Amino acid sequence: MYEAGSEYSGEERLVAPDALSEDMESEGSLRPKTLEEYIGQNQVKENLSVYMQAARTRGEPLDHLLLYGPPGLGKTTLARIVAREMGVNIRTTSGPAIEKPGDLAALLTNLMPGDILFIDEIHRLSRSVEEVLYPALEDFALDIIIGKGPSARSLRINLQPFTLIGATTRAGQLTSPLRDRFGVILKLELYTPEDIAKIVKRSASILEIACDEGGAAEIARRARGTPRVANRLLRRVRDFAQVLGEGVITREQAGEALARMEIDELGLDSLDRRLLRALIENYRGGPVGLETLAAMLGEEAVTLEDVCEPYLMQIGFLSRTPRGRCVTAAACAHLGMAMPGAAAGAAQASLFDGE
Ligand code: ADP
Repeated sequence: MYEAGSEYSGEERLVAPDALSEDMESEGSLRPKTLEEYIGQNQVKENLSVYMQAARTRGEPLDHLLLYGPPGLGKTTLARIVAREMGVNIRTTSGPAIEKPGDLAALLTNLMPGDILFIDEIHRLSRSVEEVLYPALEDFALDIIIGKGPSARSLRINLQPFTLIGATTRAGQLTSPLRDRFGVILKLELYTPEDIAKIVKRSASILEIACDEGGAAEIARRARGTPRVANRLLRRVRDFAQVLGEGVITREQAGEALARMEIDELGLDSLDRRLLRALIENYRGGPVGLETLAAMLGEEAVTLEDVCEPYLMQIGFLSRTPRGRCVTAAACAHLGMAMPGAAAGAAQASLFDGE
């Protein structure tokens, strides 16, 4: 039985899908460089290759592209692949890094014809920067205001045609004028365990780690459908395999190492378990609002929403109803706890809400 604790608060979580400092060194070598190497997300890949082929045939830059989905699923990787396949340069920045309209103007005026500007966390662009972006996206032009007051006048600077690739974890937070300016919007889904196992095997061979089928499947089962988490778990399990085992990652080795890291057989860590337990013990299984839950756990609401919930919902442990979050019978069974009466009722009611 797991104890509710706060051992991960403020620390880096092993199953966090955001990049941690330890990911940086190997992420470069593990990133797939072509669409063929990019595992899974077949629908997205098929669509993208059609759009790229069409743009190449017309001799035009690719339409502006928005990629959205939880962190660590391969949005940055995909943007780099697009640049490589289109044979153009890519400039990478992020929403919070572009502080002033002038910063964006400097980036845009330095682009060569057809280049890609990649803006990560594009939902965090400030309004004044966004306004400079609109004419740039629509007409490849910048409108600059010179002077102040009655003598101010506007000057239009033409830009080279370029492609914006925006990445976001929350498409819903994009303003609609910005969202409407993307010709293509693609959603990345959490990966299946089979695809994650392929990613683990590929990474193991690049990092020269011996890992058999069972070992890859075991890591995949606990990686929450997220390639970044899978690669991180692989590196940790390697340490255990080298020090305590024969140097080969097997199913038993992986299982034992991950259990020692308090990652259970479905990839839940202590924060996930605290969340579910709090719902069951303090709110009779829900429904409870996100903010209340976050305050109770001493975590930020966005952490729960971006990091815990997508996976808990995917495996059917959590449901969202119009009145708040509810645990499911499957979650209670996994934790070895009884399903509270209210949750059973809410689950029934949500059937009628069409949720
Ligand atoms: P995001 O930008 O969505 O946060 P990244 O593109 O940085 O995610 O991906 C994180 C890591 O996961 C990459 O370094 C890469 O090694 C791995 N990765 C992501 N998608 C794939 C994939 N489809 N196949 C293989 N590895 C992948």
